[in-house]
Amino acid sequence: MQTEWPPLPPTTTGLKGRCPRCGQGHIFNGFLKMRPECEACGLDYGFADPADGPAFFVMCFACIPSVLLGVWLEVQHSAPLWVQLLVTGPFMLATCIPPLRPLKGWLVASQYFYKAEEGKLVRTPSTPVKET
Ligand SMILES: [Zn+2]
Repeated sequence: MQTEWPPLPPTTTGLKGRCPRCGQGHIFNGFLKMRPECEACGLDYGFADPADGPAFFVMCFACIPSVLLGVWLEVQHSAPLWVQLLVTGPFMLATCIPPLRPLKGWLVASQYFYKAEEGKLVRTPSTPVKET
């Protein structure tokens, strides 16, 4: 089995949902569910913890067109509620759900690439107290 892996940029592996180490295996086992390990190189995906990162980016950026559409419908056409539900609702789903998977893959690949992990305290052995 290969022991040395060249660094692969997260934009080429993560956005495609590929393994951040080998670039061949898959990260996902469904739409957003992570596999336990890479089927190609055996990398354990236990390190991956993107938490709410993908949802945060979608809330901040991908939902802006939906809000603009809803406001435009209301201001320009005084659209009734059923029009908002039929037009803005599906548009919001179409702009917010598809980016979740590539964003999660990119965050997981970035976590591996930059070796990001939870912070730890490093304790040095205390110096002995000298008595005089
Ligand atoms: Zn792999």
